[in-house]
Amino acid sequence: MTEERKVVRSCGECTACCKTHYIQELQKLPGVWCKHCSVGIGCKIYDQRPTECREYACEWLRGSGLESERPDKTGTIIDTMISDDKREALIRIVEVSENAIERLRVRQMAEYFLSSGVPVYFVPLHGSGNIELPWGFKPGPILKKIIESR
Ligand code: SF4
Ligand code: SF4
Repeated sequence: MTEERKVVRSCGECTACCKTHYIQELQKLPGVWCKHCSVGIGCKIYDQRPTECREYACEWLRGSGLESERPDKTGTIIDTMISDDKREALIRIVEVSENAIERLRVRQMAEYFLSSGVPVYFVPLHGSGNIELPWGFKPGPILKKIIESR
């Protein structure tokens, strides 16, 4: 699943996704800092960084949420996953800092997406994730696969 909306902000000192995300090209596991990351500064191999890193953009970078809600400050990254055939989409809320996913603001955002008809996938720093579906929502094949793989 990939996402195509434009980037309208810059990461600045945020390096949150360099901790949370799996980077296949580097075999970097989720939840651990990438060995190439200067935390709070940026990527030490910026010009040679993997394509996955070049192509990734969280929702905040695409203009969602308040300016003050940058992922390194909120402790959570929100991103959108859209299937290649564009028939399925879900919001993912990925925890950067311990227990940040429990915050009221995260719940409020999740409720907003769920009430808009979009499934929300909560990904904690440790342990397995949890998917919440909007009322009456019938998951398609890709979402079913994610649900089964947890
Ligand atoms: S989490 Fe978003 S804002 Fe932070 S470094 Fe990654 S893409 Fe940039
Ligand atoms: S290669 Fe650079 S951009 Fe990619 S995860 Fe590592 S530090 Fe971040």
